[in-house]
Amino acid sequence: MRFLSSKVLKPIAASLITALLSNSVAFAQKEFKSGIEWPEPKVVNPGGAGLAPSDAIVLFDGKDLSQWKNGEKWIIKDGAAIASKSGISTKQAFGDIQLHLEWASPEKVEGNGQGRGNSGVYLMGKYEVQILDSFENKTYFDGQAASIYKQYPPLVNACRKPGEWQTYDIIFNAPRFDKEGKVSKPGHITVLHNGVLVQNHSELQGGTMYDRPPEYKAHPDKLPIDIQFHGNPVKFRNIWVREFKELLPPEKASVANKLKELNKTQEPKK
Ligand code: MG
Repeated sequence: MRFLSSKVLKPIAASLITALLSNSVAFAQKEFKSGIEWPEPKVVNPGGAGLAPSDAIVLFDGKDLSQWKNGEKWIIKDGAAIASKSGISTKQAFGDIQLHLEWASPEKVEGNGQGRGNSGVYLMGKYEVQILDSFENKTYFDGQAASIYKQYPPLVNACRKPGEWQTYDIIFNAPRFDKEGKVSKPGHITVLHNGVLVQNHSELQGGTMYDRPPEYKAHPDKLPIDIQFHGNPVKFRNIWVREFKELLPPEKASVANKLKELNKTQEPKK
């Protein structure tokens, strides 16, 4: 063993001790498991660039607007739907949703302020996420692109140039009303504009109106999505929507309460 110098042996011994110690720490720690019997999350193929996830409802794939009322009034050209004559409304009604759409304001810049590349997505036909050419085009901030119209400006202006395709990814939690028609849970909207967070779970104050302050009026749990025609030939493509539901464990007890309870039992006794 003479040829094994302490230079070689020392590091080996040190790493052995480290391995033993870290193992014993791992043995001392007990893994926490909540014991809540969650249902298994469904498998969804997330698709890819320009493709909808496998559980999405495709509202426009570049061919026709058959999923929309008044769709025949818009122009379909080169895989895009161009706003014309009137607004359009989905034939299907929706409540809580994730909505993806792509839009482009006209390449030929005309008008200014609210008159340039104006359209809008109306969730439940009542709550507008503004579409506007806000590239070097000033208007009131709670009316620019990605604002919740007359309620919240976007956190930042992530608008691309006129004519360039832009994305909105919207997460919408519909408001809930009690039997008396009062709001029991306000609506919330989160928006990513071109991948940039611009509305962070913003609490809706009611419908977004042009001529009066926001106000809630009780409505059904599901309603169509509208896209506005505001006189400008704004283009759209790749529109899809996913309905979502909270994942609930079979027991009715609130998950938050159950986890809090478990936390108490873990606390050391005094
Ligand atoms: Mg608008």
